[in-house]
Amino acid sequence: MGRYTGSVCRHCRREGEKLFLKGDRCYSPKCAVDRKPYGPGQHGQGRPKKPTEYGLQLREKQKAKRIYGVMEKQFRNYFEKAERQSGITGENLLILLERRLDNVVYRLGLAASRKEARQLISHGHFTVNGRKVNIPSFLVKPGQEIEVRARSKESPKFKDIQAQAAYKTPPEWLELDVENMRGRVLALPKRENIEATIAEHLIVELYSR
Ligand code: SF4
Repeated sequence: MGRYTGSVCRHCRREGEKLFLKGDRCYSPKCAVDRKPYGPGQHGQGRPKKPTEYGLQLREKQKAKRIYGVMEKQFRNYFEKAERQSGITGENLLILLERRLDNVVYRLGLAASRKEARQLISHGHFTVNGRKVNIPSFLVKPGQEIEVRARSKESPKFKDIQAQAAYKTPPEWLELDVENMRGRVLALPKRENIEATIAEHLIVELYSR
Protein backbone atom coordinates (compact mmCIF):
# COMPACT_ATOMS: atom_id res chain seq x y z
CA MET A 1 0.00 0.00 0.00
CA GLY A 2 1.40 3.39 -1.01
CA ARG A 3 2.02 5.95 1.66
CA TYR A 4 2.55 9.72 1.68
CA THR A 5 5.97 10.51 3.16
CA GLY A 6 6.16 14.32 2.76
CA SER A 7 5.31 17.00 5.33
CA VAL A 8 1.79 16.43 6.60
CA CYS A 9 1.49 20.04 7.77
CA ARG A 10 1.25 20.98 4.09
CA HIS A 11 -2.07 19.14 4.02
CA CYS A 12 -3.50 21.29 6.78
CA ARG A 13 -2.26 24.48 5.15
CA ARG A 14 -3.71 23.33 1.83
CA GLU A 15 -7.12 22.72 3.45
CA GLY A 16 -6.87 25.93 5.48
CA GLU A 17 -7.63 24.19 8.77
CA LYS A 18 -6.04 21.98 11.39
CA LEU A 19 -6.41 18.31 10.52
CA PHE A 20 -4.57 17.21 13.69
CA LEU A 21 -2.13 14.90 11.94
CA LYS A 22 0.83 15.34 14.28
CA GLY A 23 -0.33 14.75 17.81
CA ASP A 24 0.85 17.15 20.51
CA ARG A 25 2.46 19.56 18.05
CA CYS A 26 -1.01 20.39 16.68
CA TYR A 27 -1.94 21.90 20.04
CA SER A 28 1.30 23.86 20.41
CA PRO A 29 2.38 27.24 19.00
CA LYS A 30 4.54 25.27 16.55
CA CYS A 31 1.47 24.32 14.49
CA ALA A 32 2.10 25.39 10.89
CA VAL A 33 -1.52 26.51 10.35
CA ASP A 34 -1.11 29.06 13.15
CA ARG A 35 2.36 30.15 12.09
CA LYS A 36 1.69 30.33 8.34
CA PRO A 37 -2.03 30.85 7.81
CA TYR A 38 -1.88 30.67 4.02
CA GLY A 39 -1.54 27.90 1.43
CA PRO A 40 1.71 25.97 0.95
CA GLY A 41 4.15 26.46 -1.92
CA GLN A 42 5.17 29.32 -4.17
CA HIS A 43 1.64 30.55 -4.82
CA GLY A 44 0.31 29.94 -1.35
CA GLN A 45 0.08 33.62 -0.49
CA GLY A 46 -1.59 34.65 -3.77
CA ARG A 47 -5.18 35.86 -4.01
CA PRO A 48 -7.45 32.83 -3.41
CA LYS A 49 -9.53 31.82 -6.43
CA LYS A 50 -13.27 31.25 -6.06
CA PRO A 51 -13.59 27.47 -5.87
CA THR A 52 -15.76 25.64 -8.37
CA GLU A 53 -18.35 23.10 -7.25
CA TYR A 54 -16.01 20.34 -8.38
CA GLY A 55 -13.14 21.99 -6.52
CA LEU A 56 -15.12 22.03 -3.27
CA GLN A 57 -16.06 18.38 -3.66
CA LEU A 58 -12.49 17.40 -4.45
CA ARG A 59 -11.09 19.30 -1.46
CA GLU A 60 -13.54 17.59 0.88
CA LYS A 61 -12.51 14.17 -0.35
CA GLN A 62 -8.81 15.06 -0.02
CA LYS A 63 -9.41 16.32 3.49
CA ALA A 64 -11.13 13.08 4.57
CA LYS A 65 -8.36 10.99 3.01
CA ARG A 66 -5.73 13.00 4.82
CA ILE A 67 -7.42 12.96 8.19
CA TYR A 68 -7.71 9.18 8.11
CA GLY A 69 -4.42 8.62 6.25
CA VAL A 70 -6.02 6.61 3.44
CA MET A 71 -4.80 6.52 -0.17
CA GLU A 72 -7.09 7.05 -3.15
CA LYS A 73 -7.75 3.42 -4.12
CA GLN A 74 -8.55 2.33 -0.59
CA PHE A 75 -10.74 5.38 -0.08
CA ARG A 76 -12.68 4.51 -3.21
CA ASN A 77 -13.12 0.96 -1.91
CA TYR A 78 -14.59 2.36 1.32
CA PHE A 79 -16.97 4.47 -0.72
CA GLU A 80 -18.14 1.49 -2.76
CA LYS A 81 -18.67 -0.51 0.40
CA ALA A 82 -20.60 2.41 1.93
CA GLU A 83 -22.82 2.56 -1.16
CA ARG A 84 -23.71 -1.11 -0.84
CA GLN A 85 -24.76 -0.68 2.80
CA SER A 86 -28.25 0.48 3.73
CA GLY A 87 -28.61 4.00 5.05
CA ILE A 88 -26.94 7.25 4.02
CA THR A 89 -23.83 6.61 1.91
CA GLY A 90 -21.85 9.61 3.25
CA GLU A 91 -22.46 8.62 6.85
CA ASN A 92 -21.68 4.98 6.11
CA LEU A 93 -18.39 6.11 4.60
CA LEU A 94 -17.35 8.08 7.68
CA ILE A 95 -18.41 5.27 9.99
CA LEU A 96 -16.27 2.79 8.03
CA LEU A 97 -13.28 5.13 8.29
CA GLU A 98 -13.91 5.65 11.99
CA ARG A 99 -13.95 1.89 12.58
CA ARG A 100 -10.39 1.45 11.32
CA LEU A 101 -8.16 0.05 14.04
CA ASP A 102 -5.64 2.91 13.68
CA ASN A 103 -8.42 5.44 14.26
CA VAL A 104 -9.77 3.47 17.21
CA VAL A 105 -6.34 3.28 18.88
CA TYR A 106 -5.99 7.04 18.38
CA ARG A 107 -9.50 7.79 19.66
CA LEU A 108 -8.90 5.61 22.72
CA GLY A 109 -5.92 7.84 23.49
CA LEU A 110 -3.40 5.01 23.00
CA ALA A 111 -1.50 6.99 20.35
CA ALA A 112 -0.90 10.72 19.88
CA SER A 113 -2.10 10.70 16.25
CA ARG A 114 -3.56 8.29 13.69
CA LYS A 115 -0.15 8.18 12.06
CA GLU A 116 1.50 7.06 15.28
CA ALA A 117 -1.31 4.54 15.82
CA ARG A 118 -0.66 3.08 12.36
CA GLN A 119 3.00 2.68 13.16
CA LEU A 120 2.40 1.08 16.56
CA ILE A 121 -0.15 -1.35 15.10
CA SER A 122 2.17 -2.30 12.20
CA HIS A 123 4.89 -3.03 14.72
CA GLY A 124 2.61 -5.55 16.41
CA HIS A 125 1.92 -3.76 19.70
CA PHE A 126 -1.85 -4.40 19.75
CA THR A 127 -4.21 -7.31 20.05
CA VAL A 128 -7.90 -7.54 19.21
CA ASN A 129 -9.77 -10.06 21.35
CA GLY A 130 -6.42 -11.45 22.46
CA ARG A 131 -4.99 -12.02 18.98
CA LYS A 132 -2.22 -9.90 17.50
CA VAL A 133 -3.46 -7.62 14.72
CA ASN A 134 -0.90 -5.62 12.77
CA ILE A 135 -3.24 -4.31 10.07
CA PRO A 136 -4.12 -0.63 10.64
CA SER A 137 -7.16 -0.88 8.33
CA PHE A 138 -8.70 -3.73 10.37
CA LEU A 139 -12.37 -2.79 10.96
CA VAL A 140 -13.47 -3.14 14.57
CA LYS A 141 -16.90 -4.42 15.62
CA PRO A 142 -18.97 -3.84 18.75
CA GLY A 143 -17.88 -6.08 21.62
CA GLN A 144 -14.26 -6.34 20.53
CA GLU A 145 -11.41 -5.55 22.91
CA ILE A 146 -8.32 -3.74 21.76
CA GLU A 147 -5.35 -4.09 24.05
CA VAL A 148 -1.67 -3.20 24.15
CA ARG A 149 0.31 -6.45 24.09
CA ALA A 150 1.60 -7.57 27.49
CA ARG A 151 5.25 -7.18 26.50
CA SER A 152 4.73 -3.70 25.07
CA LYS A 153 2.92 -2.42 28.18
CA GLU A 154 6.20 -2.44 30.08
CA SER A 155 8.06 -0.30 27.54
CA PRO A 156 8.81 3.37 28.38
CA LYS A 157 6.89 4.40 25.24
CA PHE A 158 3.66 2.80 26.44
CA LYS A 159 4.19 3.93 30.02
CA ASP A 160 4.28 7.44 28.61
CA ILE A 161 1.18 6.81 26.46
CA GLN A 162 -0.62 5.41 29.50
CA ALA A 163 0.16 8.52 31.54
CA GLN A 164 -1.22 10.75 28.79
CA ALA A 165 -4.26 8.57 28.10
CA ALA A 166 -5.40 9.14 31.68
CA TYR A 167 -6.21 12.76 30.70
CA LYS A 168 -8.12 11.91 27.52
CA THR A 169 -11.76 11.01 27.14
CA PRO A 170 -12.68 8.48 24.44
CA PRO A 171 -15.87 9.01 22.42
CA GLU A 172 -19.00 7.43 23.83
CA TRP A 173 -18.87 4.37 21.53
CA LEU A 174 -15.51 3.38 23.04
CA GLU A 175 -14.41 2.63 26.57
CA LEU A 176 -10.88 2.61 27.95
CA ASP A 177 -9.44 0.82 30.94
CA VAL A 178 -6.31 2.95 31.32
CA GLU A 179 -4.71 0.80 33.97
CA ASN A 180 -4.74 -2.26 31.72
CA MET A 181 -4.39 -0.28 28.48
CA ARG A 182 -7.42 -2.09 27.13
CA GLY A 183 -10.22 -0.56 25.10
CA ARG A 184 -13.63 -1.90 24.24
CA VAL A 185 -15.94 -1.12 21.32
CA LEU A 186 -19.32 -0.51 22.93
CA ALA A 187 -21.24 0.21 19.74
CA LEU A 188 -20.79 1.32 16.16
CA PRO A 189 -20.01 5.05 15.97
CA LYS A 190 -22.83 7.38 14.98
CA ARG A 191 -22.35 10.42 12.78
CA GLU A 192 -22.51 12.76 15.75
CA ASN A 193 -19.63 10.89 17.41
CA ILE A 194 -17.31 11.72 14.53
CA GLU A 195 -15.54 14.95 15.34
CA ALA A 196 -13.74 15.46 12.01
CA THR A 197 -15.24 18.44 10.15
CA ILE A 198 -16.10 16.67 6.91
CA ALA A 199 -19.05 17.54 4.68
CA GLU A 200 -19.50 13.99 3.47
CA HIS A 201 -22.30 14.84 1.05
CA LEU A 202 -19.71 16.65 -1.11
CA ILE A 203 -17.69 13.41 -1.36
CA VAL A 204 -20.81 11.50 -2.40
CA GLU A 205 -21.53 14.16 -5.03
CA LEU A 206 -17.98 13.90 -6.33
CA TYR A 207 -18.12 10.14 -6.78
CA SER A 208 -21.60 10.35 -8.28
CA ARG A 209 -20.50 12.57 -11.18
FE1 SF4 B 1 -1.78 20.25 10.97
FE2 SF4 B 1 -0.87 19.42 13.31
FE3 SF4 B 1 0.86 20.29 11.43
FE4 SF4 B 1 -0.77 22.00 12.75
S1 SF4 B 1 0.90 20.76 13.60
S2 SF4 B 1 -0.37 21.98 10.57
S3 SF4 B 1 -2.66 20.75 12.93
S4 SF4 B 1 -0.46 18.48 11.32
